[in-house]
Amino acid sequence: MRKASLPDYAAVEGDAAARLATVRARLADAAALGGHAPPALIAISKTFGAEAIRPLLEAGQRRFGENRVQEAAAKWPALKAAFPDVELHLVGQLQSNKAADAVALFDAIHSVDRPSLVAALARVRREPMPTLFVQVNIGDEPQKGGCAIADLPALLAQAAQAGLAVTGLMAVPPAGLDPAPFFALLAKLARRHGLPGLSMGMSADFDTAAMLGATHVRVGSALFGER
Ligand SMILES: *Cc1c(COP(=O)(O)O)cnc(C)c1O
Repeated sequence: MRKASLPDYAAVEGDAAARLATVRARLADAAALGGHAPPALIAISKTFGAEAIRPLLEAGQRRFGENRVQEAAAKWPALKAAFPDVELHLVGQLQSNKAADAVALFDAIHSVDRPSLVAALARVRREPMPTLFVQVNIGDEPQKGGCAIADLPALLAQAAQAGLAVTGLMAVPPAGLDPAPFFALLAKLARRHGLPGLSMGMSADFDTAAMLGATHVRVGSALFGER
């Protein structure tokens, strides 16, 4: 079995297909170690253009993530015309005045984090509605986005009342600390609220996240190289 060691993403090698195969193999190994199914791999293509994205599409990758609505709106319609089964995920902060654009463009939104945004999403609801994840400020960091853990029950209740289906929780653990306890805490919160989705794990820690039951990992640099 491959060791679930930390990736050195400065040293990511090979073409897009090779990188994709490596990340997928590591996800499968780590998930199996934890007794979980391998998570869905979202390739985070923010800042990269179509010329970097196409090789991954050609290698069979279909889930992609962006952190800005405008950047995604400029990049993805043309790529989606060529690859209609692409699934697009928004992983960055969403302003309420862009909620309608986001709902029209994305298949999933991972950054639902406050009452005003829940209200805005409810106003622009359409069918099909993107899959929604509530972002949790899992390390209680003042500079980070995400709903405070203490505010999570009220935000989920507001979404339910507004008729918005929430699939799961998303978080980015504090930089420089072992991510494992934060992933475990997010998994515990999701279980407590009966939410099946767990969007956690990036290039530096996707193995750990997969081992701890991530259903979605968001991987940029390990697939595309440094931004
Ligand atoms: C950029 C980004 C990622 C991917 O980060 P990498 O370290 O490049 O894998 C994942 N999640 C979010 C929310 C991001 O903004």
